[in-house]
Amino acid sequence: MSASTFDEIGRALREARRIVVLSHVRPDGDALGSQLALTLSLQQLGKDVKAWNEDGMLEKYSFIPSAKILTKPPAAPEDFDVAVALDTAIQNRLGTTVAAIRSAKVWINIDHHHSNPGYGDLVLIEPAAPATGQIVFHLLKSQGLPLNREIAENLFVAISTDTGSFQYPNTAAATFETAAELVRTGIDVGRVSQLLYENYPRRRIELLRELLATMHFDAGGKVARFSLSLNLARQLGVLPEDNEGLIDHLRAIHGVLVAIFFEELPDGKVRVSMRSKTPAIDVSAICQKFGGGGHPLAAGARVRGTLPEIEQQVMEVVCDFVDCKS
Ligand code: 5GP
Ligand code: MN
Repeated sequence: MSASTFDEIGRALREARRIVVLSHVRPDGDALGSQLALTLSLQQLGKDVKAWNEDGMLEKYSFIPSAKILTKPPAAPEDFDVAVALDTAIQNRLGTTVAAIRSAKVWINIDHHHSNPGYGDLVLIEPAAPATGQIVFHLLKSQGLPLNREIAENLFVAISTDTGSFQYPNTAAATFETAAELVRTGIDVGRVSQLLYENYPRRRIELLRELLATMHFDAGGKVARFSLSLNLARQLGVLPEDNEGLIDHLRAIHGVLVAIFFEELPDGKVRVSMRSKTPAIDVSAICQKFGGGGHPLAAGARVRGTLPEIEQQVMEVVCDFVDCKS
């Protein structure tokens, strides 16, 4: 699926003077870690580099090295030689950062989502890579670009978060080989993992308690779901990032093959987040029917409608993929 080589991308980055590095709205650890790693490496090469995300740096990831260099896009648009989109399966998930780019001579698209249609001038999609961070690692290494401990720690955050701490099936031998090389730069794995996984605000667990109260099973226990209304989110004062990973509690249940999280959004849409425990059920295909996408085992969509409407519509489609009668 990859159309451009590391050499072509390396050449475009070396020839550029002003570069902007972007990733998707509601960024996760892979998006932010990849963005910061590439930005730091190119800055050390002497380039003038900006890292923009519609949501800015999340509180949750603010411990990662040089988190401060990642900002929300400015109001006044700027000109660049190269714009790089990382971990962003569809261009409109770059959000408001695109409007802050008046011009970019070359657009580079580096991603691991198999649903990525390949927008941009230089495109490198590796669906087998467990994280965009792993592709960025290979880019830096193959092109002899700077890769110090600080950059490695950002890449480690990217890979650790997108593999569920090296547990998901996308975790391959190459993932551990990459991790080993990153750790050898001097990363304190215990410290980073504690900051990532044992550092949650209390409101996240209060949110989990409320979500579990809405938990519902279908298809004889093969499908599990829970829902978050806007009212409840406001009452608890949760931030969008607080619910990242809570769906894993549903997936972790014996017999559950598909886990679904419905979240009412302020813009009249519902965010649908889906996980599958078996390659036999491709949840990105389900989400694509609602205009979303993602990976076969982890996908999502944003659908216009009320919470009960979308729950019903989605469950109908899920039942085409999972035998709901048994
Ligand atoms: P999450 O459920 O963690 O938000 O997302 C899981 C996966 O689905 C991620 O890889 C993400 O890129 C993808 N995804 C989530 N929401 C959307 C969406 O609205 N549109 C598309 N195309 N992909 C999404
Ligand atoms: Mn990713």
